[in-house]
Amino acid sequence: MLASARTGAIQASVRNAQTAAFSKQASRGMKIVAILYKGGEAAKQEPRLLGTVENELGLRTWLESQGHEYLVSDDKEGANSFLHKNIHDADIVITTPFHPGYLTRELLDKAKNLKLCVTAGVGSDHVDLNAAAEKSLEVMEVTGSNVVSVAEHVVMSILLLVRNFVPAHEMIERGDWAVSDIARNAFDLEGKVVGTIGAGRIGQRVLQRLAPFNCKEFLYYDYNALLPEREKELGARRVADLKDFVSQCDVVTVNAPLHDGTRHLVNKDLLAHFKKGAWLVNTARGAICNAEDVAAAVKAGQLNGYAGDVWNVQPAPKEHPWRYMKNPLGGGNGMVPHYSGTTLDAQLRYAQGTKEILQNFFEGKPQIPANVIIGNKGYATSSYGQR
Ligand code: NAD
Repeated sequence: MLASARTGAIQASVRNAQTAAFSKQASRGMKIVAILYKGGEAAKQEPRLLGTVENELGLRTWLESQGHEYLVSDDKEGANSFLHKNIHDADIVITTPFHPGYLTRELLDKAKNLKLCVTAGVGSDHVDLNAAAEKSLEVMEVTGSNVVSVAEHVVMSILLLVRNFVPAHEMIERGDWAVSDIARNAFDLEGKVVGTIGAGRIGQRVLQRLAPFNCKEFLYYDYNALLPEREKELGARRVADLKDFVSQCDVVTVNAPLHDGTRHLVNKDLLAHFKKGAWLVNTARGAICNAEDVAAAVKAGQLNGYAGDVWNVQPAPKEHPWRYMKNPLGGGNGMVPHYSGTTLDAQLRYAQGTKEILQNFFEGKPQIPANVIIGNKGYATSSYGQR
């Protein structure tokens, strides 16, 4: 035990020294590959759409002026894709959760020069983090860059489900007018119990923003307990057992990262423990919920509605059940494409944050600790699973 701990410490210090030496001497001429989403005409007309292939996070002039090669594309799937073809000699890969370039173990095996993976945004589950840690790759994200954007979207989604907004608007667009058809499934948020799975930056901001709605209670489920003072500030009570937690909530919002401990956490078994007719909002990651089980629960009325912007496959295929699911009264679907964390305000923040991470890396300066997901000592955060 002692010997292996010592070997680990020696390896880590050698790695630190290598990284520092590397950062100083190799601050020029790196190959940086970015996988972003296509913005099309919208990106040409709106330069603030920084997270697009067209606008390249606003980094090209700066990177090229320092002698780096910057390659940008949205082509990420399959052996012949741009990502797969360029990974073998890339030094840095920039990806975004909105159009995830999946950095699987197999792909990372091929990436012989890779040192740093940057997520332009929050949520690095598209990187095989265990593989990255084993290979001493650093993984950074722009922590906090879009947490307000997402929290606002969650509050909106809760309200649109509880108040039965989507079918009401569709009725107006159809030219119809039947108040009772909508009102028979419209409620107030006041007096309801709202619970968050994950009480980190976004989960806490959701509860803060819901404070004026006079909900009956706020609950949270998280293996990282909040400090008692923080619980008091938020008016939130921790429930340690997940089934017990969901059975008490009228509204559940998911705000935890995707990792081995959250994949398909919300499945048929757990859904059976929800209050009948509860509402579920998931802006965290699609694969935290089992897509078929959620669609079946909405169809059966076990869930009165499901809303979110994240999908287990992105872009979501045309036939994805979440596009079309409805509750027995013809509503309960608040699904949109993955955009809650990519408002124009958020894009500016995560583009600036990406630049800061690169600059620190080039100059061998320390990174902002909260941005480090995998550092030179492995996992630097307790958000991606208990270990
Ligand atoms: P955070 O790290 O501040 O908080 C995450 C919280 O989840 C932590 O408190 C952690 O302990 C908790 N957690 C982890 N595993 C858990 C589990 N099994 N059960 C209960 N709690 C668990 O992260 P954040 O900034 O609040 O972001 C959360 C997630 O939201 C991100 O990882 C990302 O997947 C997602 N996100 C989505 C968008 C979007 O555009 N839709 C944008 C930003 C972030």
